[in-house]
Amino acid sequence: MKPEVELYDTTLRDGSQGEGINFSVADKLRIAEKLDTFGVHYIEGGWPGSNPKDIEFFAQAKRKSWKNARLAAFGSTRRKNIAAEKDEQVGLLIQAETPVVTIYGKTWLLHVKEVLTTTPEENLAMIADTVRFLKSHGRYVIYDAEHAFDGCKDDAEYALATWKAAEEAGADNVTLCDTNGGCLVSDISRITQLARSRLKCQIGIHTHDDIGLGVANALAGLEAGATHVQGTINGYGERTGNCNLTSVIPNVILKMKKRALPEGAVAKLKELSQFVDEIANIRHSPRQPWVGSAAFAHKGGTHVNAVQKVIHSYEHINPELVGNTRRVLISDLAGRSNIVMKAKELGFNLGNDTPELKTILTRVKELEHNGYEFEAAEGSLALLIRKTMKHEESPFRVDAYHVSMRRDGAASICEATVKVRVGEKRAHTVAEGDGPVNALDSALRNALTKFFPHLESVTLTGKRILDTATGTGAKTRVLIESSNGKEVWSTVGVSENIIDASLQALIDSIEYALQKG
Ligand SMILES: [Zn+2]
Repeated sequence: MKPEVELYDTTLRDGSQGEGINFSVADKLRIAEKLDTFGVHYIEGGWPGSNPKDIEFFAQAKRKSWKNARLAAFGSTRRKNIAAEKDEQVGLLIQAETPVVTIYGKTWLLHVKEVLTTTPEENLAMIADTVRFLKSHGRYVIYDAEHAFDGCKDDAEYALATWKAAEEAGADNVTLCDTNGGCLVSDISRITQLARSRLKCQIGIHTHDDIGLGVANALAGLEAGATHVQGTINGYGERTGNCNLTSVIPNVILKMKKRALPEGAVAKLKELSQFVDEIANIRHSPRQPWVGSAAFAHKGGTHVNAVQKVIHSYEHINPELVGNTRRVLISDLAGRSNIVMKAKELGFNLGNDTPELKTILTRVKELEHNGYEFEAAEGSLALLIRKTMKHEESPFRVDAYHVSMRRDGAASICEATVKVRVGEKRAHTVAEGDGPVNALDSALRNALTKFFPHLESVTLTGKRILDTATGTGAKTRVLIESSNGKEVWSTVGVSENIIDASLQALIDSIEYALQKG
């Protein structure tokens, strides 16, 4: 079925210009394949004229089959005073062998005169010639009108003349770009409407987020007559980033109720967003609208209480629609409802009238007061709930430990000794590590794998050390992330002493692994 709004992804081109983002050819291919499976209509793979990596991307991409998306190569209009067929950069666009070519050209007279240093007439000829040349090679041509809004505000008649030049030369789409990202929603609406009233071809919208309006401006463009929207996953891009497609997509489908993706695709939005962050080696932002881990997290006790009664009382949509999940955060603001919902989420059958509920709540508030935070340490919280509910003892005890550090040549080596007890049996082990936490972790694990062989598969995958100001003074909080290859869990320890805090978090981590079996 024909989409009412076309989605054009430029993560691999505009997005890759973001600070700290550097995709290899293999990364780009993986992202392109993911976007194709997800169902976007266009994937802009890169600018062949700007770097050899993008030429290589297109060389490899043309050997693959694409299910939903059409690939686009990006470039600019021909240089001034040269025929399009003689311009090397334009030639590379043809050599990329993509079904779609997107070129950008100048709308704003300031740029024509001061940056291109040419005449308004030559700029119109550059646009028309290049579009005509690409059309003569059978390409679907998208004309990105750079600085469309700023240019139109400066000289509307000239701006319209540039867009018409593209249309009359055969461009299939004229996309209006807020290149500097500084326009207000009202500017976008008015100028898109003007373009709609004067052009016959499809109109697209391409915005940037410099004043925090990237998504709002894209939606305004769509409401004013554009039917094609360009952006990047997670809003990657130069400066503050491009229009964030991860927000545009659910807004178009769930709020504006327009057809844009195959049935069910939007439920994979969070997965797509996380996937792209992972490839880009960027931490997934918890506060990202729609897909962040905090997007449907409830913390205040009264909110949680209301959500428990009527789910949608504090939620704008059901989080599952975009593949996200509702989370209940546990903190010293927690009420009974938080604990009940959290316990359910963790798989415990706990109700408002379970007698242990009060004990758990009191214990959580006490620990939070002493500097613990359970928001990011669900493993420790699950253990606390379990132990209280089942009146369980710990499966092992650490009777004593010792950590020392020495320098040996250039390397510093930490050594840890632990004495543990499992029932009546005891073990005493020593291990080395490149830091105190690793040494302790190894010593503890060496001692305990004798009793619990399946601990072999558990590894320490991350640690974070934070200072925490508490009701009782400054302390260190250590968060540890562990994995058994299938599941990842986080645990927490707090103490005046960093080694002590680490040991607590390590013990919780191992206990959690043991109760998983
Ligand atoms: Zn851009």
